[in-house]
Amino acid sequence: MSLKRILAAETPDHIDEEVTIQGWVKIRRDHGKLIFLDIRDRSGIIQVVVNPRVSEEAHSEASKIRSEFVVEITGKVNKRPENAINKDIVSGTVELEATGVKVLAKSETPPIDLTTEGYEIGEDLRLKYRYLDLRRERMQKNIRARHKIIKEIRDFLDKDGFIEVETPVLTKSTPEGARDYIVPSRLENGRFYALPQSPQQYKQLLMVAGVERYFQIARCFRDEDTRADRQPEFTQLDLEMSFVTREDVMDLNEKLLIHLVHTLMPGKKIQETPFPRLTYKEVMEKYGTDRPDLRKDKEDMDLLAFAWIIDFPFFEKTEDGKWTFTHNPFSSPRPEDMKLLMEKKDIGEILTTQYDIVLNGFEIGGGSIRNHEPEALRKVFEVMGYEDKEIEANFGHMLKAFSYGAPPHGGIAWGLDRFVDILQNETSIREVIAFAKTGEGRDLMMEAPSQVSEKQLKELGIKISK
Ligand code: ASP
Repeated sequence: MSLKRILAAETPDHIDEEVTIQGWVKIRRDHGKLIFLDIRDRSGIIQVVVNPRVSEEAHSEASKIRSEFVVEITGKVNKRPENAINKDIVSGTVELEATGVKVLAKSETPPIDLTTEGYEIGEDLRLKYRYLDLRRERMQKNIRARHKIIKEIRDFLDKDGFIEVETPVLTKSTPEGARDYIVPSRLENGRFYALPQSPQQYKQLLMVAGVERYFQIARCFRDEDTRADRQPEFTQLDLEMSFVTREDVMDLNEKLLIHLVHTLMPGKKIQETPFPRLTYKEVMEKYGTDRPDLRKDKEDMDLLAFAWIIDFPFFEKTEDGKWTFTHNPFSSPRPEDMKLLMEKKDIGEILTTQYDIVLNGFEIGGGSIRNHEPEALRKVFEVMGYEDKEIEANFGHMLKAFSYGAPPHGGIAWGLDRFVDILQNETSIREVIAFAKTGEGRDLMMEAPSQVSEKQLKELGIKISK
């Protein structure tokens, strides 16, 4: 066609002009001789009217069109009368009067309705046909909002001297409290990589490496038991800084969170700034949970109640009576509690520098100041009952790195899926993850996990026990 394509959202700038649009047919409606088409492109919806009196040929072509066909339509942009304006669509002040209609691709009848918000459709079907499900306007909004949030995070941190560094996905098991996903090595049969539960060790090693301000939009993998709103892989904003105190890290993150809400979500109201800082003891006594929902009005979808929770116990007892960390083994105790750790005294009394950020009853992130002295880090593993040999085998690389001048450092990670989900007023993190898995960890579209060939297993030296 001769005319350059414009987007649905741009049509109001072209009143009385001839334009061409391309997109998907959301709905076709026949009204007597007139055919109405709602065309969807990445900018939104435009209504097209096909009148046989304007073009017999266009009308005959349009009469064959069905939902989700891909079409190219040329026509004249007409201003709608005041009483016909549709505020719900981006081009609601105009409609396109077709002079030419061309089918670019046909579509089978979609197995799921794409004209609604989609909540009423069985989720398995939505996940199986995710490439269709993502066409619906609500899902387009969600993935576009997610992009904007991530872009704004990147720009903000870049301006503040942070750099984004990618860290490996094939790595070694990290003690983050969950089960690892492991990947067999072909070149070294019987050995395995682990997928990172978080970039924790790498980001600390980047501090040893002199990066000083690191962040990453990082994929993390945890092989945890099935839960409705949990994904085997999820995304963190991961961040680490050198030469900082707990207050510095909290301040920076608070600024970033406020900036994101003000810039991207002007309709939302933050209940209280600076964010309240509550101790673990306080919230447990008052709310019985360490992620309280502090909203004064829980009916208001646009109210955001952030809070920091601090002063968590460092260690807790496991079922078999041993000590384990509550959050992160690499954390430092509070400066005033360091003496207890070094003397391995009153273990249950030691409080960590951990800070969690909660929003409307969800923990959306957490981090700490780290133990940058190798001797202090070693003590943590000793408290947990590790033998010297085990410490060496599991954390030797960290202790060694720290022996070459590790700066004091600390950081945080946000669960980005959850954060976006709350900002979008969504019902689950799966609504803001383009290709989400089921609660059982299945990818219904790709049909993963799946079996692999005998040949692949043989190369890996693996036998499946039936
Ligand atoms: N690595 C931690 C986590 O994934 C966060 C942090 O302490 O930075 O929860």
